Amino acid sequence: MAASSLTALSRLVHLTPSSPKSNPKPFLSFSFSATLPIFTSFFTLKLKSSSYSPILSSSSSSASLSSSSSSSSLNSSAPMSYDKQLAAAKKAASLAARLCQNVQKGLLQSDVQSKSDKSPVTVADYGSQVLVSFVLQKELPGQAFSLVAEEDSGDLRKEESQETLERITKLVNDTIANDGSYKVSPLSKGDILTIIDSGMSEGGSNGQHWVLDPIDGTKGFLRGDQYAIALGLLDEGKVVLGVLACPNLPLESITSQHQNTPNGAAGCLFSAQLSCGTYMESLDGSPPVKVHVSNTENPEEAAFFESYEAAHSSHSLSGSIAKKLGVKAAPVRIDSQAKYGALSRGDGAIYLRFPNKGYREKIWDHAAGYIVVAEAGGVATDAAGNPLDFSKGRYLDLDTGIIVTNRKLMPALLKAVQESLKEVALPSL
Ligand code: AMP
Ligand code: MG
Repeated sequence: MAASSLTALSRLVHLTPSSPKSNPKPFLSFSFSATLPIFTSFFTLKLKSSSYSPILSSSSSSASLSSSSSSSSLNSSAPMSYDKQLAAAKKAASLAARLCQNVQKGLLQSDVQSKSDKSPVTVADYGSQVLVSFVLQKELPGQAFSLVAEEDSGDLRKEESQETLERITKLVNDTIANDGSYKVSPLSKGDILTIIDSGMSEGGSNGQHWVLDPIDGTKGFLRGDQYAIALGLLDEGKVVLGVLACPNLPLESITSQHQNTPNGAAGCLFSAQLSCGTYMESLDGSPPVKVHVSNTENPEEAAFFESYEAAHSSHSLSGSIAKKLGVKAAPVRIDSQAKYGALSRGDGAIYLRFPNKGYREKIWDHAAGYIVVAEAGGVATDAAGNPLDFSKGRYLDLDTGIIVTNRKLMPALLKAVQESLKEVALPSL
């Protein structure tokens, strides 16, 4: 890690230098109610044979597919450890981030690139999904593999997409070769299509499922702004780990007066495991440091985040909520789940998301961010205060919107949200 990055990390006021422990702290030290039902997941792990992707299975016999690390630990006196899965997830998201960074660099340098040309983000999106799926299966051989991800290969199989498929294949093979961790022969176009389709799982409340948004915040990616590779793991319907790679997020607070300093290093990797806390490190390598959400009880000092895109979340509703609460600062508008990452380290204290009526949130847009904030001491609910339920398949069924803050501010925030919802109508899709 660059010295400047280390300095930047140590300057973050909410960070506590520490390293993640493989023996998690006592489970009940977290009173966040949404984590409780994990005790039920210590036992049966039902495996869906249809969700196993065979493309990378050469090192795993079919017999070994009947177990996973979840079912191997049946000791109900200790919380489940997901250390191996977390290490694999960090590696997968980091490698995918490298691919995305290279594509974004090319996109921003190109003077012939039309602003409306979405092909770079398409290529990076598929490439990121392939790399994450590839790395997870390589790092966790012999385990059942189920992935709920945004992309499928349908469009790429069309005649007119063959050039795009070539670009994705080259990009993925170049990234794997440059990394050097995996001695494999280059993937063919057919391999790429098969790996993309490993993400077609429906998720649900049984067994383990990875949940991936290969590029969350595609609009931010195209603008050269924030985006994230967001990867979570569900076990029996609960999010048990999450990783957010945010290549453009400064290592220093984005709400402090020092933001946008010319030498500010960027590129953050947030990681969280159930009952083990949330950590941040730089994407170019640094010791992880434990992060916490803001402790503030005073809404006047509580900066708040929302989507950059007004079409994704009502800015007028959030403005009304902020006014009722007495928030003084202007909203911080950034793309993607980088908002959850920034909140987890206390950059701001509130995240408000109110899509148009009728919009259905997908689990990959929130799973990783949800646990990153929860393990840093925050709370994420829908507008009625219900916990988010990731066990129902690819969608989150919500009562209007998502709100995130610390436990002290949540009662006042909920009250302001309920009042504002009576006054400011959300448009329909
Ligand atoms: P954000 O950058 O926080 O605004 O969220 C980005 C995510 O919003 C994308 O990954 C999309 O899945 C999602 N999205 C796309 N269209 C909409 C919409 N109309 N309303 C709300 N979210 C949307
Ligand atoms: Mg997304």
